[in-house]
Parts: sequence; C-alpha cells; structure tokens
Amino acid sequence: QFIQKYANHPTYIPPRGPELNAKNWQAEAALRMFLNNLTDEVAEAPADLVVYGGTGQAARTPEDARNIIEVLLELEEDESLMVQSGKPVGKVRTHPEAPRVLIANSNLVPHWATWEYFNDLRKRGLIMYGQMTAGSWIYIGSQGILQGTYETFAACGDRYFNGDLRHKLLVTGGLGGMGGAQPLAATIAGATFLGVDVDPDRIKKRLDTRYIDKMTHNYEEAKQWVLEAKERGEAISVGLVGDIGDVLERLIADNITPEILTDQTSAHDPINGYVPNGLSLQEAKELRQQDPAKYKVLSLKSMARHVGFMLELQRRGSRTFDYGNNLREFAQQGGEANAFNIPGFVPEYIRPLFCQGKGPFRWAALSGDPEDIRVTDEALKELFPENTHMIKWLDEAQEKVAFQGLPCRICWLGMGEREKAGLLFNQLVREGKVKAPIVIGRDHLDCGSVASPYRETEGMKDGSDAISDWPLLNLMSNTAGGATWVSFHHGGGVGIGYSQHAGMVILADGTERAERCLRRVLHNDPAMGIFRHADAGYEAAQENARKFGLEL
Ligand code: NAD
Repeated sequence: QFIQKYANHPTYIPPRGPELNAKNWQAEAALRMFLNNLTDEVAEAPADLVVYGGTGQAARTPEDARNIIEVLLELEEDESLMVQSGKPVGKVRTHPEAPRVLIANSNLVPHWATWEYFNDLRKRGLIMYGQMTAGSWIYIGSQGILQGTYETFAACGDRYFNGDLRHKLLVTGGLGGMGGAQPLAATIAGATFLGVDVDPDRIKKRLDTRYIDKMTHNYEEAKQWVLEAKERGEAISVGLVGDIGDVLERLIADNITPEILTDQTSAHDPINGYVPNGLSLQEAKELRQQDPAKYKVLSLKSMARHVGFMLELQRRGSRTFDYGNNLREFAQQGGEANAFNIPGFVPEYIRPLFCQGKGPFRWAALSGDPEDIRVTDEALKELFPENTHMIKWLDEAQEKVAFQGLPCRICWLGMGEREKAGLLFNQLVREGKVKAPIVIGRDHLDCGSVASPYRETEGMKDGSDAISDWPLLNLMSNTAGGATWVSFHHGGGVGIGYSQHAGMVILADGTERAERCLRRVLHNDPAMGIFRHADAGYEAAQENARKFGLEL
C-alpha cells in the first residue's frame, strides 16, 4: 500500500504530517528524505532516479529504490541499513545512537578510478554515481546551492566591486539542477545576469520555480535585455538557449565584457554531461549511445574552445572563476594549455569561511508544512541577532525562494553556531512549536568533509590537496558521534578520480537521544574543518581552534 501511494515508479512522494509510517522517526526521516530526493519537484529525472548533477542518483534501480523503502519501513532502532552505490545490501546490528543508514557510493580503488572503468561497471549494473547529496538523500532542490552561490557571488562583489554588484553583468553557462541557482543568487546579490543552456526545458524549469526572470532563444534579444538592465542597475536574470561557447564567442565579437564570468555546465562528466559544440540535444543523445569515445573527443575539444573564450574575456577584464565543475581539467585535456590560469572559487572566496568551520547547514521540515520553516527562520534570527549577514539571507530567502518538495532552508553557519542551532531545533520539536521532527544535514562541500584538489582543497597551504584521510576521519567521527545517516562518496561535482567526500544527516526529534547526538555531531563536524585547515597551516583556523577550545 505504501509503495502504491508514495513510490509508484516514476512517481515518488515524501509522506508529510506527524504520523509515522516507519517504526521510528530515525527511519522515517531517512524514508521521507529519500523520497523527497526523487520527487518530481526536486529530482531532475525521477524516471532514471537522477536527482541532479548530470547522473547523480538516489538509488541504483527502481527495484533497489523499492527495496530501500521496504527495509526502512521495518527498520528497528538497533539496526542499520547498508547501501552500496544505491543498492541495499544488508542490515547490521547497532544501537539507537548509531546511524540508521550507512551509505557508500561510487568508490573505486584509486588505480581504477577513471570514468571509463566506472562507466563500464555502471553498464553492468554494479555501481551508480551518487554525486554529493543525491546518493546521500539530502538534496533539497536548487535552494541547496542557492545560498552557497549567493555567498560566492557576494564574496566576489566584496573583493572586487566594493560590495556592490549593481550595474554589473554576470555571465555563466549551465542552468541545470545546481546551475539553476545562479540566476536567483546573482539577482539577490544585485547583479544583472545572463545564463546560457543548450536545453530549453532546463531553463523552463527555472522559470516555473521563479529562479529566473526571462527566457529567449534569441541572442540579440537576450543581449538587449541584459545591457539595458545593466545600464539601469536592474538585477534581472535572463536565460538564453544555446551553446555557451557560441555565446561567449559572440559576446567577444560584440565587444561585451561581463564583469563576472563563470560556468556550471555539467563539465565534470564529458560523456553523460557536457554537450559538445555544434550538436543538437538529440544528436548528442544518439552519439553518446553509439560512439562514446568520439563523443568524449568532441566534448573535450568543445570545453577547450569554451575555456579559450573565458580566458580571452579574463584578459579583457572579466573576473573569471571556475565554479567547481572540473571544466579546467577537461579543457586542458582538450588542448587548452592555459585552462588553469582561471582560479577556482574556493581559494578565491570560500576558504576563509572554512577556516571558521563555516559551511552549508541545511534543514528540512518533515511535517511538509512551510510554516515550520518560518518558525525555524524566526528562531534562528532570535538566536543569532548579531549575524546580520544570515538575517539578510533568511529574509531574502523567505521572500524569494519557492520550496521544492518538503520545505527546507539553508544558511551557512560556523563552529559553535551549528550546535546551538541544532539544539534549538530539537527544543522546537520537543515543545510542539513545529508539527513534526526536523532533519539537519549539509552538502559534502564543507570545511572538513572533502578532498578535492580542483575544488574544496585546491591550493592548500601545505600542499595536502589530494590527501583523503580527512573526509574519512570526518565520516568516522560522524558515525561515532551518532549522525542519523552517513555517507562516503567518490566523484561528486568534479567527477570520478577527482574527489572523495563524506556526508551526514542528523535528526532533531525532540528526544534526549537526539540531543546527545546533536551535541556530538554538530560540534565534531565543523571542528573537523578547523582541524583540517589548522593542520594545513592556516593561521585563522589555528586562532579559531584556540577560540573554541579545540585541542589540536
Ligand atoms: P545538470 O546536469 O543538472 O545541468 C548541467 C546543464 O548544463 C544542463 O542543463 C545542460 O543542458 C547544460 N549544458 C551542457 N553542455 C552545455 C553547453 N555546451 N552549453 C550550454 N549548456 C550546456 O548539472 P548541475 O547539477 O546543474 O551541476 C552543474 C555542474 O556543477 C556539474 O558539473 C556539477 O558536478 C557541478 N557542481 C558544482 C557545485 C558547486 O558547489 N560549485 C556543486 C554541485 C555540483
């Protein structure tokens, strides 16, 4: 009956309300968030179980999805389900303060960690791509990355434009699951925005969820709209259907130099993600099937051309940065020797935040009631009245963010703040101020949970970029501390071979058990970020370790 109602492939619906379907709230939370990842409003392609990021899946096959649900419905508080790349493989005996679900996605022994090897295993049904929050069941739609993107654009504004992005044009490619957050983040930050995507359906989805203001197939029309808006200092966003390389070429020819330039096409996957220049969507789909090797050659060549235009605009003055999709590496492989002259966004804008244990703290109201999120927003504003940046963000988000699936919120919080916020949410549940428990989680893109030399750990001070002991320690500390589900993935936003990272989600159900777990996990998790950066020699992190009494 439950399967019929909530998981009738390809239609997945998270249950809402205060009643349990599973035997306890820990399993119920995992169940609701798993279904939420796959629900129409959230997932990019529910029929393929793809949540976001090109091929990032929540479960390997529809049958695996059904099996996961069946196990979660029966799971006791002294059992934990193990999931191997989207397939439930067994239960182990644990205890109520241990994670209910243990997840490993896309991991390969390093020597074999190539897309070719991975894709072969995937074709044989042995593995799936988990991205970061797709396979770890805490993707919350485009809002998830909205805040991180806003932080990045705002930090760019602070650093180069005196904190004011009015009269500034921001150009980018890719308006998919993650990239679709860019137009709203840019307009909240005050900029005029032009985003380019080859797939008109992707842009339409952003129009429907109010993440973008206007759409056109016509370059001249888009150009006119954004130039007029920029002149007036109007923060509007325009989605243009086309190949990003072609559009950058035309901007150069027209002598238009955007102040800010980046990219979020799914470049991390040269075969199943990026669409080569000159191919229609249908042609690309066919070539992927018929001749993936040829597709890859075309894809790398197109990325080299694309990055060549980005470098030209950088020379002309655009503040240009890589936005975490591994575009530079594949452009280099495609023949653009100077691709890495474009800096990554983490060393440019985010690392100072990581040194404070700051990162993407997110939560979902399992009740399904948007009012519960409003209650948490207000409670946070009261808890941190001095954090004006957070308050501005929460106000903007309340007004501009349309919820997708279960109502969720995200804001970046640091060491100390995350623990306080988690305990506050537990109290709100206990006192009945919200209608059902709340889950708290985060992206794997965080201060202490990822090794990714072309993104989160690019250019570390001590050269420790590629050491993945750190995310493993993070996984182990969150498992030992009692997160409700934990995960360890390979690949993420930059692709197979390029990163390893850990995720965690923890339940606030108002109980004392939850309180003990929250105190441990929401302390340890950001502390890992401070340890990691202090150990690498960042003085700000060493200072923060002292400030928070962390023993190094
Ligand atoms: P997605 O697959 O949902 O969207 C990618 C979009 O790029 C698609 O809409 C596709 O049509 C478009 N595209 C592909 N080739 C194109 C071309 N030549 N010209 C114009 N458009 C083209 O992926 P997503 O979830 O939006 O993620 C985008 C990228 O960002 C991925 O590589 C992902 O791994 C990475 N990522 C970055 C971060 C971050 O924090 N910066 C976080 C998560 C993911």
